[in-house]
Amino acid sequence: VPAPRRLPELLSRTAARHPDRPALRADDEEMTFARLDDLTSRAAAWLHSLNIAPGDRVALLLPNVPAFAVLYYGVLRAGAVVVPVNPALKAREVAHCLADAGASLLLTWHEGADEAARGARWAGTRHHAVEPASLTAALQGHDPAGPAPGTSSDDTAVILYTSGTTGKPKGAELTHANLVANVAAAVDLMRLGPDDVVFGALPLFHSFGQVIGLNCAVATGACLTLLRRFDAARALSLIERERVTVFLGVPTMYTLLLGREDTADHDVSSLRLCACGGSPLPVEVLRGFEERFGCAVLEGYGLSESSPLACINRIDRERIAGTVGTPIDGVEMRIVDRWGKEVPDGETGEIVIRGHNVMKGYWRRPEATAEAVRDGWLHTGDLGTRDATGVFRVVDRIKDVIIRGGFNVYPREVEEALYRHPAVAEASVLGVPHPVHGEEVAAAVVLRAGAEATPEQIRDFVRDEVAGFKYPRVVWIADRLPKGPTGKILRREIVLPPELTAFTEGPGP
Ligand code: ATP
Repeated sequence: VPAPRRLPELLSRTAARHPDRPALRADDEEMTFARLDDLTSRAAAWLHSLNIAPGDRVALLLPNVPAFAVLYYGVLRAGAVVVPVNPALKAREVAHCLADAGASLLLTWHEGADEAARGARWAGTRHHAVEPASLTAALQGHDPAGPAPGTSSDDTAVILYTSGTTGKPKGAELTHANLVANVAAAVDLMRLGPDDVVFGALPLFHSFGQVIGLNCAVATGACLTLLRRFDAARALSLIERERVTVFLGVPTMYTLLLGREDTADHDVSSLRLCACGGSPLPVEVLRGFEERFGCAVLEGYGLSESSPLACINRIDRERIAGTVGTPIDGVEMRIVDRWGKEVPDGETGEIVIRGHNVMKGYWRRPEATAEAVRDGWLHTGDLGTRDATGVFRVVDRIKDVIIRGGFNVYPREVEEALYRHPAVAEASVLGVPHPVHGEEVAAAVVLRAGAEATPEQIRDFVRDEVAGFKYPRVVWIADRLPKGPTGKILRREIVLPPELTAFTEGPGP
């Protein structure tokens, strides 16, 4: 059997090998690989009947339900391009994605898609709300379609709209080859197989959950247990009940799980591997989690534009907390200065990536593409270092660096210090305008349930941990911090109470 070159071939291969194993589990539903494969081919035929042709863009705006997988692979089998859209977007944002992608069709879930419907009207995109019973009926009415003719592994499979934490969302175009190679590397390093049960609370519209969760499970015959939204209490019961072996999450999920008092009441011994990415995993959280859950946490790094995985810590090597390990197979990474020249080991510069995982480009944005991908190297906008052994660390996003009185402050370093305070559950550090220093360092923290600390105590604690120009003069104790769709803390959306940042002219502290 030739190695799969396009995503749907991963599914056909697994369906042939493990037809009766569960592919997906959700609240009230279980779907085997044979069934997923069959429904997917019928979905391709159904899409053909709706005049979807190879190369057309079909937007999917669905929560984590089995129908997501059916339609995702159905669109790909029809030779069309999937444009996953975040169900939390407002009408205007949905319209932007639809219009930008030139989508021919929008498929949404039957509930909670009013904003999407309005967005589709504005963009002039055809819209179908999918409802479980009618979807099954529609699919049963079509014979399974064969593979779309004239397709290649270099065709675009998915256009992923960046979450827009830095500007208007752009569509990263990922080819079948990009994704198949990233899946192969990730499967290999997680040693994923048909006996695995993968925790599926990461949103499927986002690269991490879609590629490392859904596609890796489909490629190997592992079962993906879908959760529509992450909730630490439900996650613990699910891990216990479904005997989850592989947990995939963003740092917030680890923080929330660690924050629960009742972990000892749950049997989580089935866990054999946890992978984390998307934003920095505080060292304290990693150590605490590994100790409490008795399971290795592998922190990795990547972005939608890199399909997404670029580097990660390994099971069989020493894991170094606070690092993101080494590049995966077929991927090279360097640290460069602003002129693109490699800097010596240990020095900070921009992380650039080259390899099979680098996107084809930003959809219909040649200029943005030329800026992001130069001589095959993807410029990530992230600062990092590499040590003499080749291990990478992510310092911070270039755009988030605070410049206080001419000195660079990397928010993440200050956040790490905040997480060492016993009362702090979540922390985010950002710059606020200051009349003398240009910017001042401010921290927003959420306290652990039942813990007490004053802003002054937290400030003084950090002052003892980091250099004088880095500690946060402003500390705000918040009820919660704004988060993105995957649970990432959104620094740019934090609004500090104005009285905390009303600095007066003067030499300052
Ligand atoms: P946008 O591109 O719109 O700003 P986004 O950056 O959240 O949205 P993603 O592709 O989801 O889009 O996230 C990739 C970014 O997440 C990386 O560029 C990096 O800043 C951050 N990141 C990912 N993994 C890690 C990690 N292990 N440590 C630190 N930062 C990480």
